[in-house]
Amino acid sequence: MNVSKAQERDKYDSLAPLRDHFCLPDNTIYLDGNSLGVLPKAVLDRLQTTVATEWGTDLISSWNTHGWIDLPQSVGEKIAPIVGAAPGQVLCCDSISINVFKLLATGLALRPKRTTILVEAQDFPTDRYIAEGLAQLLGPNRCVVKAVAVDQLEQALDRDVAVLLLSEVNYRTGYRHDMAALTRSAHAAGALTCWDVAHSAGAMPVAFDQADVDFGVGCGYKFLNGGPGAPAFLYVAKRLQNQVSQPLSGWLGHRQPFDFTPSYQPAEGVLRYQAGTPSVIAMRALEAALDIFDKVSLAALREKSLALTRFFLECLASQACFESFGVLTPSDPECRGSHIAITHEQGFAIAQALIAAGVIVDFRAPNIIRFGFAPLYNTFEDAARSAAILGAIMAEKRYLEPGFQQRQKVT
Ligand SMILES: *Cc1c(COP(=O)(O)O)cnc(C)c1O
Repeated sequence: MNVSKAQERDKYDSLAPLRDHFCLPDNTIYLDGNSLGVLPKAVLDRLQTTVATEWGTDLISSWNTHGWIDLPQSVGEKIAPIVGAAPGQVLCCDSISINVFKLLATGLALRPKRTTILVEAQDFPTDRYIAEGLAQLLGPNRCVVKAVAVDQLEQALDRDVAVLLLSEVNYRTGYRHDMAALTRSAHAAGALTCWDVAHSAGAMPVAFDQADVDFGVGCGYKFLNGGPGAPAFLYVAKRLQNQVSQPLSGWLGHRQPFDFTPSYQPAEGVLRYQAGTPSVIAMRALEAALDIFDKVSLAALREKSLALTRFFLECLASQACFESFGVLTPSDPECRGSHIAITHEQGFAIAQALIAAGVIVDFRAPNIIRFGFAPLYNTFEDAARSAAILGAIMAEKRYLEPGFQQRQKVT
């Protein structure tokens, strides 16, 4: 019954035709676009040209003639509207981890009398690991990391907080913060903010400028579909750009890299946040993947994302097994990202059984199964069928098969 209802909703979904722009494998329901977005068809041609013509034929001249050298900036400008940033504030480069390092160091330099980097204890660990690495490097008189529970964040914003580092959408629970409100609280306490939008950019509008955010980072390979290991991006609000320089002062963040001068002179604006040579092939893949966002309104994407996750929750609730799961994701749409997280003590094995049945989800320790809904290509039918398959797996206790207990390196 859910499936026919879903097909009806797909029929009236104005974004449904976008699915044709993606290579989706047969007989698979892909619900992991929040971890690795699917391959956009446009990427195949773009990479063919990049490799065969630009690299293969034009070789080193391509740095100028094909604009390779400007890719961090030009791809950054393609990402800018997706995160609500006016031009000149977004750079596409490195990984989130490396970008967090640059931005936190900058934030501390802008708040020289303060030492605390405030993080949420349950946030994606790399952000905190990087903060702790920076603290170790600078010593406790200059930097300490304070991790608090999500409901303690506001209270923890004391006079020693230099930077509040936070994911807009939590990678495990799918909880979505009010970015503007928390940024206001941080600013009222004299702190700067660094928002990680890895689980929001590309699935919903992000409003960096409007929320008066100071720094931001995000991911190229999740909802932006840039491919495995795609470069990440960073945002630095215009008003903060030329006050201090960042510590990974590589040659491509230099004002005149090809003068090869012995002393470092940071470039103007966000360009100083570049360190070394961009990964051109990966940049081209992400650049091609971003084209689809020209065809769609982010508000419509958000509306579909919320409709998909709500519909999936309804389908789940209609399964007999529903009682045996915990639901971590808020039902309030304002507080919900684009994935649904459920818990079960056999979560790992259940996720493996789903994958074996063609429903690609992922598992997050200790007991969480994530169902990611990418509004560019997922359908209501995906939601209905995956809930029904979960129901069948639970009814037959298929997850007890010994093969489903085997853990690999990547979950
Ligand atoms: C995926 C993800 C990252 C990934 O960081 P990389 O350094 O780019 O590998 C960071 N933060 C969050 C919140 C993520 O979801």
